[in-house]
Amino acid sequence: MWRRNFYMKKRILTAIMAAMVLLTGCGGQAKTQKKASNVSYMESVNGKLKANVPDDKYRTTYEIFVGSFYDSDGDGIGDLKGVEEKLDYIKDLGFNEIWLMPICPSPTYHKYDVSDYEAIDKDYGTMEDFESLVNACHKDGIKLITDLVLNHTSVEHPWFKQAKEYLKSLKDGEKPDAKKCPYVNYYNFTRDGSESGYAQLAGSMWYYEAQFWEGMPDLNLDNKVVRNEIKKITDFWLDKGVDGFRLDAVTSYYTGNEEKNIEFLKWLNDEVKAKKPDAYMVGECWTDLTTYARYYQSGIDSFFDFDFANNDGTIVKTVRGQTTANGFGEQMVTAQDEIAQNSDGKGIEAPFYTNHDMARSAGYYPGDDGSKVKFAEGLNLMMSGNAFVYYGEEIGMKGSGKDENKRGPMYWTSDSTAKGMTKGPKDMEVFDMKYDPEDKQAKSDSSILSYIKQAIKLRNAFPAIARGTVAVDENASGDDILVTTRTPSDSSIEPVAIVYNTSEKSANLKTSDLPDGFTKLSGVLTVGKERITEKDGTITLPKETIAIYTNAD
Ligand code: CA
Repeated sequence: MWRRNFYMKKRILTAIMAAMVLLTGCGGQAKTQKKASNVSYMESVNGKLKANVPDDKYRTTYEIFVGSFYDSDGDGIGDLKGVEEKLDYIKDLGFNEIWLMPICPSPTYHKYDVSDYEAIDKDYGTMEDFESLVNACHKDGIKLITDLVLNHTSVEHPWFKQAKEYLKSLKDGEKPDAKKCPYVNYYNFTRDGSESGYAQLAGSMWYYEAQFWEGMPDLNLDNKVVRNEIKKITDFWLDKGVDGFRLDAVTSYYTGNEEKNIEFLKWLNDEVKAKKPDAYMVGECWTDLTTYARYYQSGIDSFFDFDFANNDGTIVKTVRGQTTANGFGEQMVTAQDEIAQNSDGKGIEAPFYTNHDMARSAGYYPGDDGSKVKFAEGLNLMMSGNAFVYYGEEIGMKGSGKDENKRGPMYWTSDSTAKGMTKGPKDMEVFDMKYDPEDKQAKSDSSILSYIKQAIKLRNAFPAIARGTVAVDENASGDDILVTTRTPSDSSIEPVAIVYNTSEKSANLKTSDLPDGFTKLSGVLTVGKERITEKDGTITLPKETIAIYTNAD
């Protein structure tokens, strides 16, 4: 009985397999079909898109806190070699620029107080490691920009230490002589202790300007000798191959004096571009749009789009429904226009959603299943200019409260002792992540990571997203639906229409409301598995959806 059953089963199985081969043509195709049924909706629309990225400054940039990213040598601290080891990950996501937070020697974990501007902090590796990273980036078509902290140095910087020793050696009433110690003019020293933002020089009658903290003495940027030092520093890094700089704290260069800040930035921009005309510079001007738009008068390529970022910015308000879809579009146009007016049309927006100073976005939406985290980053990545993403946001990492928590170990895997995992800043608090680690998300086509990858894929496939002039179709747009076009000035770049449903429910628009000619659905970002449908002249967009339409031919 047993043998007979066995042969019967075997015969039936053979017959079924033969039928499958007949039905599908060959066994291999049957396998492909099974796989296709698991492929997400986004991939079914976006799958065939190819990257088409002009070599210009309209990039997609990944911000890295090196110490928490990837540890190459097992000491628990992320390092430059670790960044190089993870270049494939960054490239695979579609980024074509990296911003490294400060890498120069510094007494603090964050390294925003520099004690030597022409070296690498030993925690992060060596200058050879840096040179190797630059080369590897360039081989992969990735630009590298570094943080340039010019408002202040560390109190450990030799300039400050020498000035301090000299001032302490003066007899009471003796005036400092810059010929004996030029460094007394590198900073803003005074005997008047009443000025705000000044700290006392321990063991002396002197005070020094330190707007942020007593460990960060402000440089005297009016001093030509200091400007020459800065020129030497930027030349040094440009010679190392960096593609530009992220400028820290530009409103603090001359605290409260916008005109002088802009004058200094203009000087800096001219010096850097005289040396490397295609260098890219982006400034941190943590103010409102009207103010940071004015800073574009300096000629600096970009200033971060703070109005759109953080847990109270335009992106979050749109995701929460506090700003309408149409309102989001109008704010993109306002930003574009104000920046163009202040830069003769040359300014490049620098949209971002969060950075190392802001709580991570996983905490912005209580009860969210990841949809809102995805959609918000989608809104960011569909904006014009050079769009920035802070490491870990692509997997919805958590981190809020003290700064250390916002700069935690990249969550590559759930095993914190696994190869490459960092320990994070010493004073970071212990907390659990809300979403899966990178290795798990990489295997899921419905993960936050997969969504971000699709978003950057669209950005790279349609250069008009970053480069086109944004126009809002007010008639077709409303509370939930936003209809925009992106028309590049370069006629070789194909214009696109971008349609958004910013609401928590599906929403409709008429097919006739699509901008003239833009009838072909060519790219989608959806937070769930529902599809965009079109029936009887009505297009239905699932909740929190972004759709790219192109010309039909
Ligand atoms: Ca290390």
